[in-house]
Amino acid sequence: MTELGGPIFSLERRVALVTGAGRGIGRAIALALASAGADVALVARTESQLEEVADLVRSAGRRTLVVPADVTDRSAFERGVEATVAELGEIDVLVNSAGISPTYKSAEQVSDDEWNAVVRVNLTGTFVCCQTVGRRMLIRQRGSIVNIVSIAARVGLRRLVAYCATKAGVEALTRVLAVEWASRGVRVNAIGPAYVETELTRGLCENPRLRAGLEARTPLGRLGQPEEVAGAAVYLASDAASYVTGQTIYVDGGWLAE
Ligand code: NAD
Repeated sequence: MTELGGPIFSLERRVALVTGAGRGIGRAIALALASAGADVALVARTESQLEEVADLVRSAGRRTLVVPADVTDRSAFERGVEATVAELGEIDVLVNSAGISPTYKSAEQVSDDEWNAVVRVNLTGTFVCCQTVGRRMLIRQRGSIVNIVSIAARVGLRRLVAYCATKAGVEALTRVLAVEWASRGVRVNAIGPAYVETELTRGLCENPRLRAGLEARTPLGRLGQPEEVAGAAVYLASDAASYVTGQTIYVDGGWLAE
């Protein structure tokens, strides 16, 4: 960072690892980090989607590694981290975007299996990834972690009890890690999107009545695009955010302001 306004958003010579990088918001973030200069390891379950993203990262002149792994499998994720370090170097930036929202059901109808599935990926998976990569960052005394939460962390969305509870949980764990790790050089923040057009929200986006309702509820009058979430991740990953930790940046078209 320079007083003359050097490239404070630059991620040159940084290594990032992004979970949920095969599509949607994770994919957009992986590409934005690469265009800011980072080499990027791509984690998700579906290898074919990751290969497509990897080609785009390479075409931006950055190094990349495809890591097919489920974030609910601690040893598989640990192996992915080791492979990343061996291939690209120690990880400077971790973005946790892997997440699911498989069912819309009234709270009284949610089964144990449905509840546990969402907790396993969104909450426990995010913690395991933070812990695994965070331990290495603490040794180096540097790193930035960005967790993708949601407006669901702040407001009660009907028929999404497990999703809302896990996103609020991730916001809480983000604050705890930020406080515990601040003095050891590791920043931990979150991004909270409102409704963004991805596979996750396809059912809503393709239903004209539901879509119109969401657009009407959003002050900016439309749904978000994955690329519109990515800039906040570049900011939080970079030295531009060197005095920012424990925060959630809501990228929500004004949803929470109303
Ligand atoms: P998406 O379904 O398009 O993509 C999710 C990605 O995560 C996929 O690549 C999938 O393979 C991966 N993934 C899911 N479970 C995984 C697991 N167990 N292990 C490894 N990878 C796994 O979803 P999206 O809309 O891009 O959502 C990304 C994140 O943003 C999620 O955490 C979601 O909760 C959050 N979010 C999305 C919206 C939205 O409107 N789309 C709004 C707020 C928050």
